[in-house]
Amino acid sequence: MMLGILLARAGVDTIVLEKHADFFRDFRGDTIHPSTIDLLDQLGLREKFEAIPHSTIHTLDVVVNGNRLTPVDFSHLKGRNRSIALMPQWDFLSLLAEEGAKYSTFHLMMGAEAAGLMHDGDRVSGVRASTADGPVSIEAALTVAADGRDSTLRDAAGLVPKDYGVAIDVLWFRLPRTHVDPPDTLAYLDSESMIVTIPRADYYQAGMLIRKGDFPGVQEAGLEEFRGRIVRSAPFLAEVVSSLTGWDQIKLLTVQVDRLERWCQDGLLCIGDAAHAMSPAFGVGINYAIQDAVASANLLVGSLRSGSVTLEDLARVQNRRLKPVALMQPLQLMVHKVIAKPGGGAFLANPMRWWQRAVAAATLPVARRVTARIVGRGFRPERIEAQLDPGPL
Ligand SMILES: Cc1cc2nc3c(=O)[nH]c(=O)nc-3n(C[C@H](O)[C@H](O)[C@H](O)COP(=O)(O)OP(=O)(O)OC[C@H]3O[C@@H](n4cnc5c(N)ncnc54)[C@H](O)[C@@H]3O)c2cc1C
Repeated sequence: MMLGILLARAGVDTIVLEKHADFFRDFRGDTIHPSTIDLLDQLGLREKFEAIPHSTIHTLDVVVNGNRLTPVDFSHLKGRNRSIALMPQWDFLSLLAEEGAKYSTFHLMMGAEAAGLMHDGDRVSGVRASTADGPVSIEAALTVAADGRDSTLRDAAGLVPKDYGVAIDVLWFRLPRTHVDPPDTLAYLDSESMIVTIPRADYYQAGMLIRKGDFPGVQEAGLEEFRGRIVRSAPFLAEVVSSLTGWDQIKLLTVQVDRLERWCQDGLLCIGDAAHAMSPAFGVGINYAIQDAVASANLLVGSLRSGSVTLEDLARVQNRRLKPVALMQPLQLMVHKVIAKPGGGAFLANPMRWWQRAVAAATLPVARRVTARIVGRGFRPERIEAQLDPGPL
């Protein structure tokens, strides 16, 4: 969607396909990081963005075995935007879709599922898609696979990502807000579980990390045990867990970290999770997908205007984005190995031992600044270049 808008406002005829008829999907992350808010400022969308209900957080707190820690503090960032916005993804996508609709060069086809690629010789020349009105074929100077970690178009091109293996899955569910809210807290970890508690205006978007493939076992143990496990790790939720009355309220989301060796073929570019699936760690996946979109638009608009995009042009996008992704994914994997897993909180005693307190006091003030930068802006934050400025409406 972001790439579609950037190209369309720069005068390039763009079609965005979305297989669903609306944006109301299961939870798949709703963090809008400072790097993305910077881009909204550039796009002149800030006022509209602020008008949509969302929560704002300045720090990421975690409670590890009863000890509250603040490993990320965005107030240390330079620049105007020093916090994360938590906005349901459907609202954010609707904002972008509305912006796109201002340009005659932007065409959003909802309920249009890309089913395969078309070729002209060895070159990808467009997509075949199914819509409610029947199949369509769309010829394009460039086809972009931005269709997520189970990308149909990537598969159709025969591109296979290398899987880096994450041993966890996440169970997502909503819980009502409690009467007396603790400070905003990303997660509660102890020697048994990790419970995510993302605050939204009128509910918690909550999650429990489980070992990969363990969902049937969790169900077998029963809902009572599931609720008990939540409360043992995050006791403040005791007054609201009774709202979980059936497994249909609890959704399994599998976690993946993988990456393509080559993100492009002649006529085809993969970006976002289609090129590199990100785990929920640090909540950076959406923002990395958006940064890919900005880099693609910056690097390709000239060739697209002239009507011919070469494989070298596409390789430049991969060259630009590979480093930030290849630096972030190992950090995500490390976090999953050490902390972000069931039982990961066992590494801290309650109360902390003297040496743990000393290590925390010595490292956290520095760590907070570094993580704010890495999480909030990423390794190579992109700016929308002047060549993408809109043509006349
Ligand atoms: C459990 C979980 C929690 C996460 N939490 C966060 C978080 O809090 N913050 C964060 O930044 N990241 C989070 N992530 C990572 C994040 O979800 C992804 O990195 C990000 O969504 C990637 O964006 P994308 O646009 O590449 O793909 P997606 O967001 O997956 O979007 C792909 C789109 O393409 C559509 N589509 C798919 N196939 C087709 C087709 N054949 N034809 C047409 N349309 C198609 C889909 O419907 C979808 O709208 C989380 C991931 C997981 C697994």
